[in-house]
Amino acid sequence: MFSILKDWREQRVLDKSQFTHSDWMLAAQQIPILDRLDESELTRLFELATLFLDDKSITGAKDFSITDGVRQAIALQACLPILNLSLEWYAGWSSIIIYSGSYTSESITVDEFGIVHKSQQHRSGEAWLRGPLILSWKDAKHSGERDGHNVVIHEFVHKLDMLNGRANGFPPMQADMDPVTWTETMERGYADFQQNPKAGLDRYGATNPAEFFAVLSEVFFETPAALVDAYPEIYEIMVKFFRQNPLESKS
Ligand SMILES: [Zn+2]
Repeated sequence: MFSILKDWREQRVLDKSQFTHSDWMLAAQQIPILDRLDESELTRLFELATLFLDDKSITGAKDFSITDGVRQAIALQACLPILNLSLEWYAGWSSIIIYSGSYTSESITVDEFGIVHKSQQHRSGEAWLRGPLILSWKDAKHSGERDGHNVVIHEFVHKLDMLNGRANGFPPMQADMDPVTWTETMERGYADFQQNPKAGLDRYGATNPAEFFAVLSEVFFETPAALVDAYPEIYEIMVKFFRQNPLESKS
């Protein structure tokens, strides 16, 4: 009963979408990492992206104006990691805020002596637990170019990670996955990455296990061969987690 209601609601959203299949196709052609998807995968991605845009609000910060092209580029890349999962993986939050370029984020921490420290950091994106996801368009616009960097995928993978609490590199597992295998494989890789830089893997991944998962996910979707070279066993568990294999060519 509920799924029938849901399907009906989703169908209505799809029917009244402002973007046609060819609008989506044009937007997808700007994002090289989507080349590997076949016709039916693209259609599914476009539907997910349409439902995604209905579900999330995208607003510009500091006068940045959100164009259709921005909305489409964000939605397509946000939905790539969940292409074979579902939109429910992005449940529990709704706001995406976009700055034109990198922005300054102020954080306030209190140390053990009760002294308040204020620090400023330049950021290209961040994801808040149960809160907004923030991106710099200047960085997001160069995502998807197969250079191993993708701030959109990075931040949305933090959201997947946060589905079961704070980002810690341990997202909810698929039913057929063994959580122990995931933890041991990621811990082994993370410990190794602390000591040994790997070609094509950003050192930012050595910051903590959550960043390791997010950085390796960027590589998984952007330059999968680099991940297979560095950590074949992590590539394998990511194929199981994301339910897709970016190294497979079009069927
Ligand atoms: Zn991060």
